[in-house]
Amino acid sequence: MMKRIFIIVMVCVCASNSFGEDDGFAAKRRYMVDAQIKARGVSDPRVLEVMKKVPRHLFIPENIRHLAYEDYPLPIGWGQTISQPYIVGFMTEAAGISSSDKVLEIGTGSGYQAAVLSELAGSVYTVEIVEELAALSVKTLAERGYGNVHVRYGNGYEGWPEEAPFDVIMVTAASPGFPEKLMSQLKEGGRMVLPVGTAYQQLYVVERTPSGFEKTPVLNVRFVPMIGENK
Ligand code: SAH
Repeated sequence: MMKRIFIIVMVCVCASNSFGEDDGFAAKRRYMVDAQIKARGVSDPRVLEVMKKVPRHLFIPENIRHLAYEDYPLPIGWGQTISQPYIVGFMTEAAGISSSDKVLEIGTGSGYQAAVLSELAGSVYTVEIVEELAALSVKTLAERGYGNVHVRYGNGYEGWPEEAPFDVIMVTAASPGFPEKLMSQLKEGGRMVLPVGTAYQQLYVVERTPSGFEKTPVLNVRFVPMIGENK
């Protein structure tokens, strides 16, 4: 009898080891990355690995968690959405993050993009204008142990001047133009990824060079608009 129990325990240990951190969603996550993100051309192995790891479903309201790994954005309350997984992968790759980078994100939302960034960067500063979402993301990120993410409730058009300059700035709500205050908080050699436009937008990569800013459109996208005043 004892021998049989011992064998069963051994089988369980092996099963959990061979699947890594299997929270019941790991297979869906792998499929999401392979079928939606890698298949569409995102190839940075670090980005793909991190997106297989971060538990996206935990950043989503409980009643729709079963949809967390589907190929579309999802509502997170207060009229806001968590971006489609492919867009998160695309933007993260476009940002070209190194492990020592200091990153600013505008539009914390659920905190998911911040979590993905934090796995790749040295530190992440993220600003959210909806107070409830800022508070919720603080809780979710803390519960998952993302200690290098700092969340601020405020207007992202202001950036985070006390922590500037940043190696990377990522804006995850649509800006009608190129926000100057944010661009001024970018390091020389740094990159900013942001959707520019109103109803439909172009995703731009903006690089700060010694002489100014180089703006390159990279993808047609559709984001919720930035709210708050750009003073
Ligand atoms: N990155 C988020 C999704 C972004 S949705 C995620 O991973 O879930 C866009 C977010 O930008 C929303 O939460 C919205 O409230 C926020 N937002 C809109 N305008 C803003 C502003 N001016 N400053 C900061 N956040 C803003």
